[in-house]
Amino acid sequence: MKAARKFFVGGNWKSNGSVSSIKDLIGKVLNPHPFDFQSVDVVISPTFVHLPLVQSLLKPGFQVSAQNASLTGPGAYTGEISPESLKDLGINWVILGHSERRSFYGESDEVVSGKIKRSLKSELNVVACVGENLKERESQITNDVITRQLSAMKGNIIDWNRVVIAYEPVWAIGTGVSATPEQAQEVHDFIRNWIRREVGVGESEKTRIIYGGSVTEGNCGVLVGMKDIDGFLVGGASLKKSFVDIVESGKRKL
Ligand code: PEP
Repeated sequence: MKAARKFFVGGNWKSNGSVSSIKDLIGKVLNPHPFDFQSVDVVISPTFVHLPLVQSLLKPGFQVSAQNASLTGPGAYTGEISPESLKDLGINWVILGHSERRSFYGESDEVVSGKIKRSLKSELNVVACVGENLKERESQITNDVITRQLSAMKGNIIDWNRVVIAYEPVWAIGTGVSATPEQAQEVHDFIRNWIRREVGVGESEKTRIIYGGSVTEGNCGVLVGMKDIDGFLVGGASLKKSFVDIVESGKRKL
């Protein structure tokens, strides 16, 4: 039986990669593997400058994403890259609200929400990231933080069919300490219920909620067993051979 929601795995390369390392990863690891793109969306997210190279190298079936987009459109905004420019380049996805954008570059809930609006209007698909930091988890306000982040986005999500929610606890990103399957499932269930209450039953059943934070080939198998985990956003491991195993773990969901 086919899973209700198509499995989704994003590879967030962050500010990593050179022309030669990208040629290697795509030529030796990604392209040779027989991914079943009917049952999994594999979305590769390199730096802005590497987007055209990655588009030209990946075999058909892969999708390509930006890691950010501007709040502003085309015009006198030196150094910014607009959703309109991304769309023009043939890019179909953008990651917005990643915790590194929120914490290092001061992106507020409102800025993230505005970027989501502009990106959806430009017909991009959006991976919208939410997640609490360690202090917030220890203070037991995880659900409040998630509610605040989702509520800020709600009015600007004009099409839920084009949004994937990524739950990424900040304390798990790049630390080697993943959330346990139970911790992740608890928040994914909370997010799905929030969508059911605040948006609608259909949207809550269709929207993919993916987990990110130190996902590896070693822990993806147990995480994938959780009912509300519909895929992964992968940082560090997306630059390695083991990314293939993480994508393939979705087969256990079928
Ligand atoms: C990320 O940056 O989105 C991420 C999940 O990173 P890592 O897998 O390295 O924790």
